[in-house]
Amino acid sequence: MAKLIPAKHLLLIGIVFAFLTIVFFAFPSSATKDKQNIALEITPQVIKESELSLFDSNLPPPNQASSQTVDNNPQVQLSSVPQANRLEDQLAAPPRPKFTLEKHSVQIKEGDSLSKVLSRYQVSANDIYKVSNADKKQKSLLRMRPGQHLEFSIKQPSGTLQDITLVINRLQSIHFKRSESQFDRAEINRTPDISQTYKEAVIHNSLFVDGMNAKIDQPLLIELANIFGWDIDFALDIRKGDRFSLLYEEKSLDGEKIGNGNILAAQFINNGRTFQAIRYETKKGANYYTPDGLAMRKAFIRTPVDFTRISSKFNPNRLHPIFKTSRPHRGVDYAAASGTPVKAAGDGKVSFAGKQNGYGNVVIINHGKGYQTLYAHLRGFARGMRKGKRVKQGNVIAYVGQTGWATGPHLHYEFRVNGVHKNPVTVKLPNDDPMPKAELKKYLPYAQNVIAALTNSNSAEFSQRLALLKD
Ligand SMILES: [Zn+2]
Repeated sequence: MAKLIPAKHLLLIGIVFAFLTIVFFAFPSSATKDKQNIALEITPQVIKESELSLFDSNLPPPNQASSQTVDNNPQVQLSSVPQANRLEDQLAAPPRPKFTLEKHSVQIKEGDSLSKVLSRYQVSANDIYKVSNADKKQKSLLRMRPGQHLEFSIKQPSGTLQDITLVINRLQSIHFKRSESQFDRAEINRTPDISQTYKEAVIHNSLFVDGMNAKIDQPLLIELANIFGWDIDFALDIRKGDRFSLLYEEKSLDGEKIGNGNILAAQFINNGRTFQAIRYETKKGANYYTPDGLAMRKAFIRTPVDFTRISSKFNPNRLHPIFKTSRPHRGVDYAAASGTPVKAAGDGKVSFAGKQNGYGNVVIINHGKGYQTLYAHLRGFARGMRKGKRVKQGNVIAYVGQTGWATGPHLHYEFRVNGVHKNPVTVKLPNDDPMPKAELKKYLPYAQNVIAALTNSNSAEFSQRLALLKD
């Protein structure tokens, strides 16, 4: 009978512990609260005892709440546990041995979490919980992504976590440091050194091929195409012998390049035309301007859809494909897959969104100053698209379809100026709103300086080409 009692209790302790473990993981904060209350009621000896027996059975470090159950059960007493000798050995042992700090750096993989990574290094659930708790407002640890690093140190032989750092990137990390019974969180942000760099290239094939050959990073080339995209069609207008140059920011940290900043200024010689653009920040944000202060951005984008080909041109005297009669085609047809997004060509207000006989589903936008655009044969409209809705340039307003009189999916696009239909492909697009006068006064001397910095860096051939074009 006497032999049976400890076994029974071991079983009981096991069941209770398993239950409490579940409670702890399911409701960590409430479990911790309980723990604080309980800690007052139990004697330190009992805690030690329960820790010992639990470690012996190869379980994770204990939630101290389990010792309450042990304490409440009068049949489990310290003296009745056969491991008492080992406990005494431990208590009598000399003060803590020298500890060592074990350092680790782990790259986050898909599906990793703080607890997954740390439990691989036998960090206790309690320590993991405390770190998460220090981050519960910001949730940086929950948002860690594959490729980022966790750097941490573990004190041995106790196995306690001393500090842990989530390295988000070279400039940003989140640091957690143990202090007493919790972890303190700190964000570490470094600022890179910024320097100006100049590059130029001659085009033999394309902006991208020759730009990359000139060791210009692709994102800068994309940005360049965006800056000049209002004036140059990079698919159609580029000629062999075109040149471009740019002055941009490079970011470095501890003497090593870590990335690019903004393009400060750029020039493009295209097919006998010269364009210059300067980055300038106003209250409305940063934009690119000509040296005279006109926005590079136009009030309209040339084509409101990513199309595969122009299936029918603007033609005031064409034969209609369905009616076989002379009917002017007052817009351009852009063939595109059904469902392709259609964008607002410019800022404005929707004056019509619905069905009209031949047009099928159609959107008409008033842009002010006499400008109006029309988008027809749509499969459907973007959410909230109705009369009176304000739209911004580039907003998706609808989707390509073939409603109304259409032989295949395409966007029929019209561009009207004071009620007169213009060819959307060739119409001169108005510039964006000009810079306010007060702003212009500050801008002009700045622009002059930047252009001087840019042209002073030009190679001899570049300067020659530029000079030839100016004559
Ligand atoms: Zn059409």
